[in-house]
Amino acid sequence: MQVLFGGTFDPVHNGHVVMAESLARAFPDATVHVIPNRQPPHRASQVSAEHRLAMLNMAMEGIPQITVNAIELGRDGPSYSVDTLRAFRAQFGSNESLVLCLGADAVRAVDQWYQPEMLVKLAHLCILNRANQTIEIPQVLGCYQPTDSVSDFSNQANGLLGRLATPDVPVSSTEVRALIAKQAPTLPVPLKIADYIGWHHLYQDTE
Ligand code: ATP
Repeated sequence: MQVLFGGTFDPVHNGHVVMAESLARAFPDATVHVIPNRQPPHRASQVSAEHRLAMLNMAMEGIPQITVNAIELGRDGPSYSVDTLRAFRAQFGSNESLVLCLGADAVRAVDQWYQPEMLVKLAHLCILNRANQTIEIPQVLGCYQPTDSVSDFSNQANGLLGRLATPDVPVSSTEVRALIAKQAPTLPVPLKIADYIGWHHLYQDTE
């Protein structure tokens, strides 16, 4: 089983780390791929892909089963999840269980994605709690078959929709950038990420 957890990670924060740890625990036989975007389709990132990748590597270091996968950084143009899932299918074959993981906020925006109707044919969908956000499934995901247990994901290659009861971690990258801009003494990121941000003077002029 291959589990995909993608994002901008601009910068990576404690919420991302807790989600990655939860995924590794929930899917003990899987490889969990943490996948930074090259270029977010809906907005520009604040710092270079190299800095985002370096921070992600540091934050995920030592978490079992996790691999930071730079597949989207090697592709031209915007990073579309369907392209990444097609690349995984080509690499792992049609029988491999692929699990696309999204926070509740990201699920709501799926209908604005490129070819969202293709997702069901490529992967399962695993929804993660996002603090203070309700879970709403857009119509375009209506072909997914709901399941009460994410352990069902190992029984087939794609097509199931489940929810993982992850802890609420009320933090976002937007908030982290705003805290840096106002020189907050502590940040909700791993200590080594805070050190890296300070050392490289990242996000100092965020509005
Ligand atoms: P921004 O504030 O810049 O939009 P973000 O904090 O939402 O960033 P992303 O890198 O865009 O971070 O998110 C990557 C993935 O992680 C998405 O699926 C998102 O829903 C999920 N995610 C981010 N933060 C949390 C959190 N605190 N709890 C649960 N899921 C999260």
